[in-house]
Amino acid sequence: MEGRKRVKREAHPFGKSWYIGSYSNIPVKVHWSFGLLLLFIVYTILTNEMKMWQAIAYTMLVFAVFACVIMHEYGHALTGQKFGVKTVDIIITPIGGLARMNRIPDHPAQEFLITLAGPMVNLIIAIVIGFLFYIVTGKFSLDMTTYNLNHPTEFIRLLVPINLTLFLFNLIPAFPMDGGRILRSLLAVKFGKVRATRIATQIGKLLAIGFIIFGIFDQQIILALIGLFIFMMANQEYDQTKLLSIIGHTTVSELMQTSFTRLHLGDTYQSLIEKYQNGERNFLVFDSIGNLSGTVPELFIKDFIDQEKDPTLTVNQQMSSKTRIIDPAMLLKDAIDTMRDDGLAILAIGDENNIIGVLDRNTIEKYLRSKAG
Ligand code: ZN
Repeated sequence: MEGRKRVKREAHPFGKSWYIGSYSNIPVKVHWSFGLLLLFIVYTILTNEMKMWQAIAYTMLVFAVFACVIMHEYGHALTGQKFGVKTVDIIITPIGGLARMNRIPDHPAQEFLITLAGPMVNLIIAIVIGFLFYIVTGKFSLDMTTYNLNHPTEFIRLLVPINLTLFLFNLIPAFPMDGGRILRSLLAVKFGKVRATRIATQIGKLLAIGFIIFGIFDQQIILALIGLFIFMMANQEYDQTKLLSIIGHTTVSELMQTSFTRLHLGDTYQSLIEKYQNGERNFLVFDSIGNLSGTVPELFIKDFIDQEKDPTLTVNQQMSSKTRIIDPAMLLKDAIDTMRDDGLAILAIGDENNIIGVLDRNTIEKYLRSKAG
């Protein structure tokens, strides 16, 4: 139940999804488009004129495959946990699962293992079920073309070739699919993460186009959709990797503003608004002897303007008492983490006796936007 409470109200990067349960503090959510798969199941059942229990077996098979997909994602997520990479959630879509991790692992070897763990889960499922099936029935076949849902054992047997297919398909080096990630982690040893991602992205896009063309001609709509998804995600992940590399190499001193307004506790909001209109967005507040004693984030100022509050209101009546002084040599990446963890919109730079500059959220956003283009 704990997991349910912790799921934050956050933006849905892929659209709405529903929580269905969690294991090891990692929630599983079903994406709205999964509903399309249910329609597809109904469509298949009706057009193939299945008997009632064949329809049930078919539906159960689809759900069993998705259970395997969820286990595949947990393979990634639980291996990630070992290396301190947190999985925010696992999202299930009709074209597969997605373990959304809070960061890309630092070391290529970690990415290699985290990624390999997913397909390995499918291989293990295939071997275990195949082995047990052979022991119990004394026969075995990997045939997927002539299956017979009339027989209950077929349901179990089919899970073997399906999991083998999932294992092999995921190893196709189409970044950001698992095989592409494995390729990226191997390339990163020689070329560094950014160039490795660039190469893997280009190979991934080429393969994605292949998936789309083959999918359309062979009427494999799911394959075409996977191709489309890979194509869209590849660039996005490259941009993200590039930005992560930039913030991991830039120091705060390169971005800080050395000319900034020092507000005093008794300053009025009216005087503050003038500074705001001149371009500064977030402010530091000092007491009468020059000690840092708070901040006024843009949020407060907008709020003040929106609610048309009394302009004689002073800064100390409405400010945040949270502050943080950081070293100019701090990496931008760590500064961003500090801001997020402490809920700050502006950081003071220097030391307690001598604050030499500021860095705020807006400056960082502007900088990253200029680098992303
Ligand atoms: Zn995977």
